Amino acid sequence: MASPPQLSIVIPVYNEELNLPTLFARLYPVLDGLGRGYEVIFTNDGSADRSMELLRAQHGSRPDVTRVIDFNANYTQHMAIMAAFERVRGQIIVTLDADLQNPPEEIPKLLAKIDGGFDYVGGFRLNRQDSFFRTYASRLINYVREHTTSIEMTDQGCMLRAYRRPIIDAIVRSGAINTFIPALAYSFSGNPTEVGVKHEERHAGVSNYSFYKLVRLNFDLITGFSIAPLQYFTMFAMASAACSFVLVLVLAYMRIFLNDNTNGVFTLFGIMFFLLSVAMIGIGLIGEYVGRSYQVVRARQQYFVREVLETSDTARTAANSNPKPN
Ligand code: UDP
Ligand code: MG
Repeated sequence: MASPPQLSIVIPVYNEELNLPTLFARLYPVLDGLGRGYEVIFTNDGSADRSMELLRAQHGSRPDVTRVIDFNANYTQHMAIMAAFERVRGQIIVTLDADLQNPPEEIPKLLAKIDGGFDYVGGFRLNRQDSFFRTYASRLINYVREHTTSIEMTDQGCMLRAYRRPIIDAIVRSGAINTFIPALAYSFSGNPTEVGVKHEERHAGVSNYSFYKLVRLNFDLITGFSIAPLQYFTMFAMASAACSFVLVLVLAYMRIFLNDNTNGVFTLFGIMFFLLSVAMIGIGLIGEYVGRSYQVVRARQQYFVREVLETSDTARTAANSNPKPN
């Protein structure tokens, strides 16, 4: 058997036909120059464009180091990464985006940190090249995450990250549903660090993240890593119950002892609406947790792989003129 590569690069791909040729042209020379055995695992996340054709061609021209997982439909970036994590062969795993917002030239920086003994290296974007809205929304989200979970991360949105294999194995074993990989990895890491990386504008095309998808992702992140929202809600509900009790006492006092009956109905309506809205928020929150439990309990397969393009270990050995003994 050929010895497994040392490094696995994991790249989710969704409608990136305009970016893939440049990505190939920039990524492979960087990896070839590292002097380590590597593999690149692309997951085609149900692209509707020519992405799969391009990946197939790339597998054809670099079969020894290229693997392609083809989903039958679009299952989100994180599922695409999970599918690759389940198949990695390297001891060091690097994730990055296909749109060249994470320059492949920055990979050696992450590897230097891993070699320095860290088991988790998170990239943070030095010069973020996103829209004003995205940049500020993500600052707010970082703040909320920091105060509701114990995850410390300068830039949760940066997917250029490196991990040691045990962390990836732990993520795969955890069977996490729909969750946020950098945060999950952080919670499994023993010796995390961060490094600043360049950020470029999307090479071509537009972001695949709609406002709705971003809100969903962050709701997942908060509810997936803490039950603080439930606890805050309970405390808030208790406080508001106490306040409304006092209000009822005051109203009763005014009615009985001062015989003041004006606006009573409207005050009550006000209180009713308020309490009703509190109850609705609570139901929504509980629904979120119930939904998560439901997904785990149901344990349905999260994605369906249509095809995997890879060269088996034996075939790789055959292709290798000087195979190393096991
Ligand atoms: N992506 C994916 N599935 C999706 C959406 C995105 O695999 O449903 C991939 C996409 O091809 C890219 C990465 O995830 O490699 C980041 O996506 P995008 O650039 O749209 O996100 P942004 O940079 O705006 O956060
Ligand atoms: Mg992008």
